[in-house]
Amino acid sequence: MIKINENFLELQESYLFSTIAKKVNEFQRNNPDKRIIKLGIGDVTLPISKSVANAMHNAVDEMLIKEKFKGYGPEQGYDFLREKIVEFEYKKRGIDIEKDEIFISDGAKCDTGNIGDILSKNNKVAITDPVYPVYIDTNVMAGRAGKYNNGKYENIVYIPTTSENNFVPDLPKEKVDMIYLCLPNNPTGTVLNKEQLKKWVDYAIENKSIILFDSAYEAFITEENIPHSIYEIEGAKKVAIEFRSFSKTAGFTGIRCAYTVVPKELMGYTESGKEISLNKLWNRRHCTKFNGVSYITQKGAEAVYTEEGQKEIKENIKYYLENAKIIREGLIEAGFTVYGGKNAPYIWLKVPSNYTSWEFFDKLLNDVYVVGTPGSGFGPSGEGYFRLTAFGSKENTIEAIERIKKMK
Ligand code: PLP
Repeated sequence: MIKINENFLELQESYLFSTIAKKVNEFQRNNPDKRIIKLGIGDVTLPISKSVANAMHNAVDEMLIKEKFKGYGPEQGYDFLREKIVEFEYKKRGIDIEKDEIFISDGAKCDTGNIGDILSKNNKVAITDPVYPVYIDTNVMAGRAGKYNNGKYENIVYIPTTSENNFVPDLPKEKVDMIYLCLPNNPTGTVLNKEQLKKWVDYAIENKSIILFDSAYEAFITEENIPHSIYEIEGAKKVAIEFRSFSKTAGFTGIRCAYTVVPKELMGYTESGKEISLNKLWNRRHCTKFNGVSYITQKGAEAVYTEEGQKEIKENIKYYLENAKIIREGLIEAGFTVYGGKNAPYIWLKVPSNYTSWEFFDKLLNDVYVVGTPGSGFGPSGEGYFRLTAFGSKENTIEAIERIKKMK
């Protein structure tokens, strides 16, 4: 008899995006003359840059030539890309990361989801709430989350990030082992400065915990004193794994390329307290279960680091950040309280006090035909908030905000 992994039965169905789609379709069916604007999407909409496309074309051409053809590549990624990452993302910021601490992959989603493979099932997990759902669901699958009760998993420590603490998560009162931090944050669009992040690094050092630092939106940071990498904080190499992605940085959501940094000085422990290198464990896991990102894709990613490539991706990020500014300023003008949108493509707004997140969703759709994402879909502390994204076109963003300003 085939036994299943019963942890999967503890997963909660996510009705968030399917419910949104259902409501939007129904509205459109009943109101075929209304033009709906979607500011709910978390996906890029601008095409990839010319430099990336050219590099990928060239790589395809190489595949036609016997002497240049590539079969399986190194599972950890080609040196040409790992070296560029070391130089551009770390050395330039004065951070000493070596190329064998970098693992190229096909996405930060997979890596943040798979990292638990090398960590004990008995670890206590902490997440900030609201949250990118992958961190929770993958821990449910692994059996770390326990039963689901009243909107929360029993064994997960939820750390609220709301306007009450100005989106600065408090250190957990109980001891935790695995801490997921997503900065700049999805969904709130908020960030921590160096001093605020240092408290978490110090906590992790003191408690021998690990910080799983997802910085998929790092490229959107505009303000000073906001760390682009957790390794800007002293001691972080001892306690943190960093997840980065070309998805939002360079429009690779459909191409797929990301990387994870596992420093060699980062240790985990056996039950008996023996130190084990997590770099070695992740290397073993990665090489066993993953067969590398395609040469063509990695050549495309490498082109992001050319002078032209940098210019082109920065233009796209600027475009999204301008949309974010339009949303932020327009909503403030309309009397809303808003957060995020300065260092992230996400704007997190407080819904009027007499509405729930879903009631506000309905109002926006029915009154002004604008679609966003109800905050409660990201966790219990998201109730009372609403997410808009800057990934739409400028024209649609302007029009959506003009419509919201006129809303009664
Ligand atoms: N991490 C966060 C916080 C995200 O919001 C997303 C995508 O929306 C990802 C990771 C996924 O990144 P990737 O496309 O590299 O899998």
